[in-house]
Amino acid sequence: MNQCPTCGGKKESVVFVNTGLDSSGHYTEIQKCGRCLGAGYVSQEIIDDIERGKQLRADRVAKGLTLREAAKSEGVTVATISQRENGNFKK
Ligand SMILES: [Zn+2]
Repeated sequence: MNQCPTCGGKKESVVFVNTGLDSSGHYTEIQKCGRCLGAGYVSQEIIDDIERGKQLRADRVAKGLTLREAAKSEGVTVATISQRENGNFKK
């Protein structure tokens, strides 16, 4: 098994919670790591996906495309591109 690259094996990650227009209401909280779901380690498959995502991002940046431009050219949403680049591929 591989140590989770998102939480570094700590099993949790600090997330920023945006509560809206009033910035005084924003806060950070510690949540169970979403990558490894609190296990602290991930499968090789996930490591491969993360590497694949990094490569996608590197390719896009090399082409000088923004997330929005890449999404438009592929006919998907910005969120989809962003998720892929973070190693989250829909199975
Ligand atoms: Zn994790």
